[in-house]
Amino acid sequence: MTDLAAWLPRAVEANLRWMAPFGAFQQHPSLAVDDEILASAFNRLAERLTDNYPFGHPRYVGQMLKPPHPAAVLGYVSAMLINPNNHALDGGPATAQMEKEIMARLAGMFGMAEHLGHLTSSGTIANLEALWVARQSHPGKAIAYSADAHYTHSRMCQVIGVDGIAIAADDAGRMDLADLERHLSTGRIGTVVATLGTTGLGALDPLPSIVALARAHGTRVHVDTAYGGFFALIADDSADGVARAPFAALADVDSIVVDPHKHGLQPYGCGAVLFADPSVGRFYVHDSPYTYFSSDEVHLGEISLECSRAGAAAAALWLTLEVIPLTDAGLGQVLRANRRGALEWAGLLATSDDLVAYQAPELDIVTYFPARGSMSDVDQASQALFHAASELPPAEQIHLATYAVTAAALAARGHRITADATTARIIRSTVMKPESSTYIGDIHRRLVSLSRP
Ligand SMILES: *Cc1c(COP(=O)(O)O)cnc(C)c1O
Repeated sequence: MTDLAAWLPRAVEANLRWMAPFGAFQQHPSLAVDDEILASAFNRLAERLTDNYPFGHPRYVGQMLKPPHPAAVLGYVSAMLINPNNHALDGGPATAQMEKEIMARLAGMFGMAEHLGHLTSSGTIANLEALWVARQSHPGKAIAYSADAHYTHSRMCQVIGVDGIAIAADDAGRMDLADLERHLSTGRIGTVVATLGTTGLGALDPLPSIVALARAHGTRVHVDTAYGGFFALIADDSADGVARAPFAALADVDSIVVDPHKHGLQPYGCGAVLFADPSVGRFYVHDSPYTYFSSDEVHLGEISLECSRAGAAAAALWLTLEVIPLTDAGLGQVLRANRRGALEWAGLLATSDDLVAYQAPELDIVTYFPARGSMSDVDQASQALFHAASELPPAEQIHLATYAVTAAALAARGHRITADATTARIIRSTVMKPESSTYIGDIHRRLVSLSRP
């Protein structure tokens, strides 16, 4: 395991080495802090940080959370000591260059022939930018997304003053093509947002058909792969890969969002947006009296809605991709292990009398619920299981997440459960740490015994 205790001092040393030639200077007394006071405050911080869930442990199989790779931490800290701002080349020449290299690699992963893009502080902001470009290029038209799309799409449509239309989801949580076609035929829709890897279920919208339908109606296509995008590395229909066709169609869409802070091993503060047509840069035209003076080359702030952004985020991702590249043999091996864990779990659920699979995982998100006869009992049993698993002794704890489903969604998947409530919580487990894959058998057995009435 990469030992950060040994590596982090190297970040400090490299910074001191770089700064030395500029000459020593005295820190202003207003900034001086006594070591003892800092030590005491630090101890309080360390204590308060123990009020967390062990996101990095293989038995944490709840939400989409895990600590960054040590290479990302090393890259982030190294750059943060300088604190470059990737808004402008003047604010961070080195990290702005790294960001451009990263964007070319991401575009390559998606098979984009050309691209214009940059990192953002999150998937939400990256999607906002894509929706804003959708509005600028098709003014007055609506934006359509699946009912299972991330909730921020409808919110961001409100923000930019565009009508947002929810397209029905089918019995696997994918965008329903008949409903999409019905809406496209009204001529109202300027852009369709497809999701590859829904946040709830990890479902893959049928992108090849969506692209064909959209093109037939002169409609643009934006793809939100905030969660699922890196699975493009293993989209080969193999036993521990994922479906090829939806990811292959990414080469034909207008824009793509992916979150390196989800499956790219990065700390929070790292989303990305890519446009297939670099000429969308015209929508961003603005002049800044404060920045942009050092170069005729494009400044990232000139093609971004956000102003200040951490150059450290680019350094973190750059260093990570130098050691774990965007290849099947690199990051692909992390995703394949996650996928094997999810598939093994799905197999165990298929033969269990106590836990029922809600639907089959398309990526690494597994959904299931304790076998019960009514929705209110499923809800209660799921909630009880969620708590019981997290309240085991620390060395045995299992951390889960819940997900609310409707009576119609349960029925569509063939679950015959009395609908005595409008929604029920089920269990949702994201298997996003490769180490979790070897724990799945134990986790499943434990949950089975905890779930019995
Ligand atoms: C997580 C997620 C988002 C939102 O991204 P943030 O980085 O949390 O802002 C949007 N879409 C999908 C599909 C996601 O999974």
